[in-house]
Amino acid sequence: MATANSFCRSSPWKSCVDPPYKGNLRERTGPGATRGLPRGRTSDVSTYLFENEEHSKLREQIRRFAATEIAPNAHEWEEAEEFPVELYRRAAEAGLMGVGYPEELGGLGGDLSHGTVAGDEMVLAGKSVGTVVGLWSHNIAIPPIIRLGTDEQKERFVRPVLEGRMVSALGITEPGGGSDVASLRTRAVRDGDCYVVNGSKTFITSGCRADFVTTAVRTGEDRHGGISLLIIEKSTPGFSVSRKLRKTGWWASDTAELSFDDCRVPVENLVGVENEGFLAIMHNFVSERVGLAAQCVAIAELAYRESVSYAREREAFGQALSGFQVTRHKLADMTTRIAAGRAITGEVVARHLRGEDANVLAAKAKNVTTDMCSAVCDQAVQIHGGYGYMREYVVERLYRDARLYPIGGGTREIMNEIISKAERY
Ligand SMILES: Cc1cc2nc3c(=O)[nH]c(=O)nc-3n(C[C@H](O)[C@H](O)[C@H](O)COP(=O)(O)OP(=O)(O)OC[C@H]3O[C@@H](n4cnc5c(N)ncnc54)[C@H](O)[C@@H]3O)c2cc1C
Repeated sequence: MATANSFCRSSPWKSCVDPPYKGNLRERTGPGATRGLPRGRTSDVSTYLFENEEHSKLREQIRRFAATEIAPNAHEWEEAEEFPVELYRRAAEAGLMGVGYPEELGGLGGDLSHGTVAGDEMVLAGKSVGTVVGLWSHNIAIPPIIRLGTDEQKERFVRPVLEGRMVSALGITEPGGGSDVASLRTRAVRDGDCYVVNGSKTFITSGCRADFVTTAVRTGEDRHGGISLLIIEKSTPGFSVSRKLRKTGWWASDTAELSFDDCRVPVENLVGVENEGFLAIMHNFVSERVGLAAQCVAIAELAYRESVSYAREREAFGQALSGFQVTRHKLADMTTRIAAGRAITGEVVARHLRGEDANVLAAKAKNVTTDMCSAVCDQAVQIHGGYGYMREYVVERLYRDARLYPIGGGTREIMNEIISKAERY
């Protein structure tokens, strides 16, 4: 991976002397619509401690893209349960598909800290979590190819994704179970120059539109030692999208059930070494969980900002809601919990970048931030009263989106398994 220094050397943000962002983040124009940061706050309290000038330029860049390309369409895309495929290309042109990826593959360089900041700002300014997770499903699909793939695989699959010409997905979970990865059943049997794949995957983000799926398959009998990763292309005969799934939140992203029926996948699509896929999957989970923790921080921060604006403008008993001490304390509790969630997430990023094994801390951060996010979104709905239950209000959507996080990318219980094993009780 490129280092932060290489990011600084060549990134388009280096010479970027953009004026401070003055756009309008509002989705609605009525009472309580967000007006950027709450009064009295500086951006310092809602950024990560590790951030420097480069991160702040990156934030500006992302904010401008998300506020103009996503926010005005957020409600429509969420209701339609999809965003235009064209957005991948537009995001790539703005440099946003390559944040944190090697420059030699068409990325912008940078590291997990840049990816974390980018995700934060995309959610805050774009206000459509579904769009962000769909647009950036490559953040879980391509890292194994970059780490373990051949040069040819990187050229054929990674570069087009970073250029917005291909959509990618990661296929681990199966209808029979997701937590117990070692028991997966989708089987790949070697036949000449191909693997013949039979089985199915479910809950796959971007599965409907993906041009390829980085897929976990069983190539051996041993539980952990019999799993491999195969790149399965959409055009492969026998590959089909069985269903587009309807879900509680993340509406703008597509979530699919996939089916493989005597699907012949060329052996050159094997990522890394046969039967050594389990470790690659576990490695991938660390950055995925940091990303999910960071999304929780961003979602909670957005819910908080919406609530502050609303509390200032909505009146009851002749005064603004913010005039009630109980409302102010709710808001104070929300921002305090967000600060704690941001702190642990920032710490995982920093330790990961120092080369430490961040697996256990990432599990802790995921559980801390998912709880925090659910609680903050719940309070945000409460502050909005009946409007908080209405579909056109952002907090209603965030409340639904928040429910995914204790499940996706490894459940709360599995995070506790990781933590308790490490503690050796
Ligand atoms: C919107 C969405 C998007 C997703 N995107 C993707 C994707 O892109 N790619 C992908 O591969 N997957 C994806 N997933 C799948 C997700 O990672 C799984 O849902 C998750 O890993 C849990 O697996 P499961 O749903 O099969 O639950 P199960 O494994 O069946 O677990 C059910 C319950 O049992 C508990 N449980 C299981 N084992 C234990 C244990 N040992 N101890 C205690 N409790 C246990 C779980 O914590 C959970 O509460 C997505 C899921 C959703 C909802």
